[in-house]
Amino acid sequence: MIGKYKALFKKEMGYDFPQEPKAQLLEAVKAVFRSWDNPRAIYYRRVNDIPSNWGTAVNIQSMVFGNMGEKSGTGVAFTRNPSTGEKKLYGEYLMNAQGEDVVAGVRTPNPISDLQKQDKKLYEQFVNIANTLEKHYKDMQDMEFTIENGKLYMLQTRNGKRTAKAALKIAVDLVNEKMLSEKEALMKLDPKQLDALLHPQFDNAALKKAKVIGKGLPASPGAGCGAVAFTAERAEEMVKEGIKKVILVRLETSPEDIEGMAVSQGILTARGGMTSHAAVVARGMGTACVAGVGELVVDEAKKVFTLGGKTYKEGDYISIDGSTGNIYGEEVKTVPASLSGDFATVMAWADKYKALEVRTNADTPADAKTAYNFGAQGIGLCRTEHMFFDADRIPAVREMIVSTTVEERKKALKKLLPMQKKDFIGLYKEMKGYPVTIRFLDPPLHEFLPHEDAEIKALAAEMGIPFKRLKETVANLKEVNPMMGHRGLRLAITYPEIAEMQTQAVIEAALTVKKKYGYDIKPEIMIPLTCDSREFNFVRDVVANKADEIIAKEGVKLQYKIGTMIEIPRAALTADEIAKTAEFFSFGTNDLTQMTYGFSRDDAGKFLDYYYERKIFESDPFARLDQNGVGKLVEMAAKLGKSVRPDIKLGICGEHGGDPSSVDFCHRAGLTYVSCSPYRVPIARLAAAQANIKNPRK
Ligand code: PEP
Ligand code: MG
Repeated sequence: MIGKYKALFKKEMGYDFPQEPKAQLLEAVKAVFRSWDNPRAIYYRRVNDIPSNWGTAVNIQSMVFGNMGEKSGTGVAFTRNPSTGEKKLYGEYLMNAQGEDVVAGVRTPNPISDLQKQDKKLYEQFVNIANTLEKHYKDMQDMEFTIENGKLYMLQTRNGKRTAKAALKIAVDLVNEKMLSEKEALMKLDPKQLDALLHPQFDNAALKKAKVIGKGLPASPGAGCGAVAFTAERAEEMVKEGIKKVILVRLETSPEDIEGMAVSQGILTARGGMTSHAAVVARGMGTACVAGVGELVVDEAKKVFTLGGKTYKEGDYISIDGSTGNIYGEEVKTVPASLSGDFATVMAWADKYKALEVRTNADTPADAKTAYNFGAQGIGLCRTEHMFFDADRIPAVREMIVSTTVEERKKALKKLLPMQKKDFIGLYKEMKGYPVTIRFLDPPLHEFLPHEDAEIKALAAEMGIPFKRLKETVANLKEVNPMMGHRGLRLAITYPEIAEMQTQAVIEAALTVKKKYGYDIKPEIMIPLTCDSREFNFVRDVVANKADEIIAKEGVKLQYKIGTMIEIPRAALTADEIAKTAEFFSFGTNDLTQMTYGFSRDDAGKFLDYYYERKIFESDPFARLDQNGVGKLVEMAAKLGKSVRPDIKLGICGEHGGDPSSVDFCHRAGLTYVSCSPYRVPIARLAAAQANIKNPRK
């Protein structure tokens, strides 16, 4: 084997492998430093928010040998169970072996408890050391050890990677054991990791009915279900091709597979133990993993595997249960997750220590309900255009767009009014009195129109207008640069009737819910894409006049607010002007990032990969708020807004509202709330608590 390695080295490097030990050591050290910049490390840092300027370190230790015979061995152990969090020493070891043999999954190791039978004294010494390390670091430890001729050596200890479920249990246990305070326990959690608990779990009834085709080690819990892929690259391709759920099936995984593992719903391996690469990485990612399935025969070249007497090929659907290790040869139904037990305890601590409110972006009552159950304190963004795409509405929407007179448009809007009103009633009801921010129509109108001749013909017939006229209207609506075109509040300036209809729906719905269900709704009407106080004032007056007219007619009291999104740099620069009449700001950091960088939010992904590869950027500014540039605009606008209106409500509703590092920024910038998609609400609650523990608000 050494001969083969030497030949490979010479072929790759063009010179003989150095024989001087010191030269070998220095080369090994250099290789570790080089590894900091390999593509997998760059990817890992981006996913885990690790700055590249940290660099890495090299420890040089004298070697001890676990393969010196039957009185030698090596192993890996955790002070608590990394899958469940159970307080019990957990690990594996192999006699007459080196560390690589344990983690590579080539030999199947023994459970750590067996060591007790083999050498009681040594086992007790190990348990003692494990307890000391855990107390010292106040956290679950992941330790590597070697026994050389009956003597125990500790090679390494670090805070252990764990599943989200284990992380929560360990946090709650360590507080109960008085090892940590609630605040310290909150700081140890990774908000992004909670994601794994928020996604669907297997439906118990469906699971019972499904046929188990094999069983392996429950290496990382979760309900994994999807189409089979046999290589990491193929898994990535399949996801790009639109197959949403993929299960990666491998003999064993290696670090090259990391990106393919990240896009997969689950990982299934024939080899490997609970501490194999697949298991450790999957637990870190919160992805379901079943490892070490002895009967699983994988033919990676032919792209097939056999299990339970049946052959499965690429694209076949299977399900894996990372909590039991069971494998199913079919798609098993899943159900939504819920907050309970340790999760609920931790979330209650988070609410106790956070200063920011957490709202949600929701356009449907179903989304609003999910978010409410996850602890959302209101809706920060309801994108009303999403309500217009339903099959039963689109004809009326199209009619509104192609109208050539105000009368025609009003006729179409009249059809839409009851539908919008019903939408808002649904949202208000689900939010049970929490504030609901409704944003008025935002996208370029031509997005709603048909583009193909056949579609235009059909619509013209449906509307009883000539094909030629409709085709002309569609052509006229076409814009060279729609993202910077006739959209946002510019629609309300050209067609105030649209804003009037939406105002009527918002106010009448609030009055209905107040009367019928007793919730005191204070609607917040949000005007999108403002760039100037004068255009905002024009639309604000249209909305306020309509709202006041309805409230006066009904003769009841109803408070409402009119505010704006800040998503164009000019709005941030002139925020003091705008705040004279705008009662709240919500930072639309999707558009604000697009406009500040001049990068299209829909296309930037195509070239950003090169930026990461060439180390120009470390992260995607559309996912992680650019604090140096876009953030400066946010801080400036917040300050200008407060200078004119000290009690102005400030929120964020771009995608960044659910990103932990961006939440930390919003806290420091003095925002009132963050708003994010329903499934990120618990993540934002924890991130908000951590932000306030780090920098307490006065
Ligand atoms: C934004 O621009 O950040 C925003 C929330 O609005 P949308 O994503 O709908 O453009
Ligand atoms: Mg926007």
